[in-house]
Amino acid sequence: MHLQELLRQLPSVDEILLQEEIQELVISSQRTLVVESIRQAIGELREAILEKRIVGGDLTEQAVKRTLEITAAKEKFNFRPVINGTGIVLHTNLGRAVLSEKAREAVQKIAGSYNNLEFDLERGQRGSRYSHVVSLLQKLTGCEDAMVVNNNAAAVLLVLDTLARDKEVIVSRGQLVEIGGSFRVPEVMEASGAKLVEVGTTNKTYVGDYAKAINENTGALLKVHTSNYRIVGFTHDATTAELVELGREKQIPVVEDLGSGLLVDLRCFGITDEPTVQQLLEEGVDIITFSGDKLLGGPQGGIIVGKKEYIDRMKRNPLTRALRVDKLTLAALEATLRDYLDPKQVLLSNPTLRMLITPAEHLYKGAEKLKTALNEVLPKATINVEQDYSQAGGGSLPLTNIPTYVVTIDLGSISEKLFAAKLRKGDPAVLVRVSQGKIIIDLRTLLPGEINQLVKACREAYKAVQEG
Ligand SMILES: *Cc1c(COP(=O)(O)O)cnc(C)c1O
Repeated sequence: MHLQELLRQLPSVDEILLQEEIQELVISSQRTLVVESIRQAIGELREAILEKRIVGGDLTEQAVKRTLEITAAKEKFNFRPVINGTGIVLHTNLGRAVLSEKAREAVQKIAGSYNNLEFDLERGQRGSRYSHVVSLLQKLTGCEDAMVVNNNAAAVLLVLDTLARDKEVIVSRGQLVEIGGSFRVPEVMEASGAKLVEVGTTNKTYVGDYAKAINENTGALLKVHTSNYRIVGFTHDATTAELVELGREKQIPVVEDLGSGLLVDLRCFGITDEPTVQQLLEEGVDIITFSGDKLLGGPQGGIIVGKKEYIDRMKRNPLTRALRVDKLTLAALEATLRDYLDPKQVLLSNPTLRMLITPAEHLYKGAEKLKTALNEVLPKATINVEQDYSQAGGGSLPLTNIPTYVVTIDLGSISEKLFAAKLRKGDPAVLVRVSQGKIIIDLRTLLPGEINQLVKACREAYKAVQEG
């Protein structure tokens, strides 16, 4: 057929709009979006004709097919759920902690109505947004007072700015850490206006090193939990108790950036190298900061607990307004903390804690189920259940390897990298580990009900790989 003839046969937007499938689409989607998609589909067809990639066929049918595809792609949310098959429980790029059922319900309730965010319903006057979580934090950690800001980096910034603006903060060289995503302790300190005074060496710092550095301009002694790495071997660190004693003697506040914020003792589950917030407060630390979405298993947030006199000063700091936490976070945080009131139940209701302590044996059945189902949809692949290790992630528990079960998929002549890419771009998106030519799916981080979705995603990815 002649080029001109084909171009004349190109349907108009109105003609496509009249097609039955498109009429249905207009009802289920938005008209303007569909029209935009039709224009794009026709444009693509015109280009294909001019480039002689199309030399005949039913152009209307092709335009309808493309319109459906383009609209579906446009309707897909940019920000959407991902199935985490990596075995990294707190994956910062995947949104860290999954919220508990109670926390999700709380968010939904508060999001859809007015609320008492800053209104004291008892007294009928303006209230504080922190009031919703302070008594819970007092009960759970034994703190005098508490407040919450946007994240732990903000918490550290606020604490230093409040206690040590234009003053010196003493910190061990072994704790000048970077926590990924460019959170570097020295840089945050600089931003706060506190002057960093480094003491000791990378591997050894004694309480005497802090004592020697103290002068009339010292604003705080800071201990930073080296969340994402450990210095092992020939090492020494001043203990929290030693710093507290020194701080008392010199009347200088002791601040600990704890990072993770564990509220339950997990030693009997093999998680041994992480102090709880309660322990440190009991030892006398004046101010502790930690994240809401690491081991606590709640929403993103920076929780500050400790002495009331210092927290009162932080609440009055103008920076607080810029760092403040929103109502949805507070809703999720209150619910997450309420779960902790029952220290046994929280190990099941909090998804992060549950994933961290689930024994490998409990994952075996799920792994076998996944293997059987995958054998059906990937008949040519070699699929096995193997023992492996999961990670806490999110800069928490760097030395804790958690034994787990994984399903490994060897796709033979099909590239595992290509398959993983198709899984990633699928709907729902799936992230897996790729190692030594195999796809590795860790059962630990799969949520209830995700095995079936995962199997479907693998079938689609396999189809997509074969279509090229
Ligand atoms: C993770 C971490 C931070 C940063 O916390 P965010 O909540 O991600 O801002 C700061 N300090 C330590 C020790 C951490 O582990």
